[in-house]
Amino acid sequence: MSHTVEQIALKSSSPGTQRFLKVHRFNAAKPGPKVYMQAALHADEWPGLLTLQHLITELMDLDKRDLLRGEIVIVPYANPIGMDQRLNGVVLGRHSFSAEGNFNRHWPDFSAVTKAVRDQDPQSSVEQYRQALRKAVAQLPTQTPLAELKATLLELSIDADIVLDLHCDSQALVHIYANYRQRQDSQLLAQCMRSPIVLLEDEPGGSPFDAAHILPWIAIESESCPVSCFTATIELRGFADVDDQLAKVDAQGLVNFLSAKDVIQAAPSMIETRVLTTDLEAVDSVRATATGIVCWTKELGEWVEKGELIAEVVDLLADSPAAGRTAIYSRTRGMLFTTNIGKLVCEGDNIGKIAGTEVLVNETGEGLLSL
Ligand SMILES: [Zn+2]
Repeated sequence: MSHTVEQIALKSSSPGTQRFLKVHRFNAAKPGPKVYMQAALHADEWPGLLTLQHLITELMDLDKRDLLRGEIVIVPYANPIGMDQRLNGVVLGRHSFSAEGNFNRHWPDFSAVTKAVRDQDPQSSVEQYRQALRKAVAQLPTQTPLAELKATLLELSIDADIVLDLHCDSQALVHIYANYRQRQDSQLLAQCMRSPIVLLEDEPGGSPFDAAHILPWIAIESESCPVSCFTATIELRGFADVDDQLAKVDAQGLVNFLSAKDVIQAAPSMIETRVLTTDLEAVDSVRATATGIVCWTKELGEWVEKGELIAEVVDLLADSPAAGRTAIYSRTRGMLFTTNIGKLVCEGDNIGKIAGTEVLVNETGEGLLSL
């Protein structure tokens, strides 16, 4: 058996308190890739927390049966700082209370590290690049609790062959964000996870966690040195989609993917899924056209046509409620795959997303990910 559990003490920002990360490792005797998985870097996104509990149980069983290869590292909750940010009983885990921004933005870019190794010796091995990456991570600043948390997570993940970051949206179908260079593995992951949508990008902007793992490889990508880390962000539906049944399905999806990548030596249990793979630039953010209560006329997963009515905003100030409705029409043809759980909206709010196939003009000039 190769399962070990480690507890890593983290810096605390207030006297008399202490935070910890838990790390589950499966270090199989048989050689194989290194896989890293974490949940709830956005600390208010909880489906992945339960999914990883089910996955660990499953892996412990597979480990006993000697069916694992390589190394699997699981951080079952990635952000104890964010989980502690409660205001009036609500966990606000997307942005740091310490004014250090969105927890899944501003991760370091180690492209200069791999480029320096390549410039010194173009024949450098993947392991030599990884050594340099580990060294660079060890030198990251750790003066704040969040900086230290980021450095700790990177120390565990930067040299992995596969990095999966589990998030969720507000209300949503399962969907996957990945780099367009990794279309094949992303589609395989989607099949395994029964995810109907894969969104591919070249550079999402904002420097999320997954980009920190792929950018150093893209920087030196060549025929002799292919991108040596598959990384994806998996959105496990919406905030409220946390129950044992869904978590079991998603844990099985991760087991399927690890089986397909030969990290688990067992046949995957697949169910054929129709997957829409498209550009992240073909995702339209639906904006509220007025202030009021939004009423959707389309369900998640429905296809909509360009110009079709998808929602109405009910104006609470209207003298005649029936006349006080403002229509929202789809600006693209595609699948409605996320909507906001909050129904009281302000004009201009992003309230949903439609995945189409036509690349759209970026009207705001912002990065491709929401803030
Ligand atoms: Zn998230």
